[in-house]
Amino acid sequence: PFHNAPRQLPPFDYQPKPYNGPSADQILEKRKKFLGPSLFYYYQKPLNIVEGKMQYLYDENGRRYLDAFAGIVTVSCGHCHPEVLNAITEQNKLLQHATTIYLHHAIADFAEALASKMPGNLKVVYFVNSGSEANELAMLMARLYSGNLGMISLRNAYHGGSSSTIGLTALNTWKYPIPEGEIHHVINPDPFRGVFGSDATRYAKDVQDHIEYGTSGKVAGFIAETIQGVGGAVELAPGYLKQVYDIVRKAGGVCIADEVQTGFGRTGSHYWGFETQGVIPDIVTMAKGIGNGLPLGAVVTTPEIANVMAQKIQFNTFGGNPVCSAGGLAVLRVIDKEKRQAHCADVGSHLIGRLRSLQDKHDIIGDVRGRGLMVGVELVTDRKEKTPAKAKTAILFENMRGIKNSEFYLGKVGCMEMFSE
Ligand code: PLP
Repeated sequence: PFHNAPRQLPPFDYQPKPYNGPSADQILEKRKKFLGPSLFYYYQKPLNIVEGKMQYLYDENGRRYLDAFAGIVTVSCGHCHPEVLNAITEQNKLLQHATTIYLHHAIADFAEALASKMPGNLKVVYFVNSGSEANELAMLMARLYSGNLGMISLRNAYHGGSSSTIGLTALNTWKYPIPEGEIHHVINPDPFRGVFGSDATRYAKDVQDHIEYGTSGKVAGFIAETIQGVGGAVELAPGYLKQVYDIVRKAGGVCIADEVQTGFGRTGSHYWGFETQGVIPDIVTMAKGIGNGLPLGAVVTTPEIANVMAQKIQFNTFGGNPVCSAGGLAVLRVIDKEKRQAHCADVGSHLIGRLRSLQDKHDIIGDVRGRGLMVGVELVTDRKEKTPAKAKTAILFENMRGIKNSEFYLGKVGCMEMFSE
């Protein structure tokens, strides 16, 4: 009753197909043997997910879960959404891949549709395969266009795990001992935990200070998410980006918005996260929700910046592949047709409202924040001191690597990934 957006709910009696594959234990054993170790594999006994239908996942026993994780904020239209599935399937039957050197209508149509969603002069699209790759390309563009090397990113940011983007990422758990290039991590404008509360001007001054004291006075660019996703649904202090964009542009740099998590209407109020701060970036990077689970990413920029890429070859084998482009186009259609953005706004405000009423009753809820369906709850053991609560996942991490700042794992990542029924 709390919103009018049309929703596609699978019938309650939907029966997943019988599963005859290997058991969770057998898969786990194989994974341990043949897949590389990763701290990311933090569940001792992960679920064996065999089917997905819209917002639901089903395990090997046919048990249904509400997928609050959405494939790490990726399944923007729902698992196996009929229209997206149909677009992919039909394209698959005709042509899976030739090369992006040839023409294909789906690629051109998708680029046009994506550009039509962008404000200002952001009209040139590059397709890549992931968010990390999108940020790699954005960083390359910033450095070539500005002629400078220094990049600025926020502490607590996540921009990818490739060997260059790992430098932009500022979370200790993702860091490896490798050279990261000239990257400056500035104080995070985090209204809940940040040293300056919601005072955007004081945080922006830190960017100015970094440029003044830590660089020649010139920088290549600045990158930020408007709501930090991996960092725990941390929304930047209001007005921050406007001030920082001015500072960075005066220092010769370009401004990059990482919309990998905040894009495609997820915040409800706006199609892109950067619009919530009233700015227009020079480069926008996207992935995740762009393809409803297809391996796809994009960089959108201005013709002037794109021009610097014309001096050499800019190409990758799969970016803009016909199947991904057909799927991406269907995603854009579904978001508009099914009023997904309005849905995020309606359901999100309902969710935030209900979580806030839980916060009134339970001291362990230190903060409820976010926009649309990008929502975070931060648990604390002492509200005044904001002492982060610890959970089993945090302790598990500590044991695995001797990490001591485990508040990140519970305090920021949260534990509400899936609700079993
Ligand atoms: N940027 C943001 C904001 C992300 O959340 C992520 C992934 O979580 C990335 C970049 C990297 O994307 P990918 O995992 O597709 O390389």
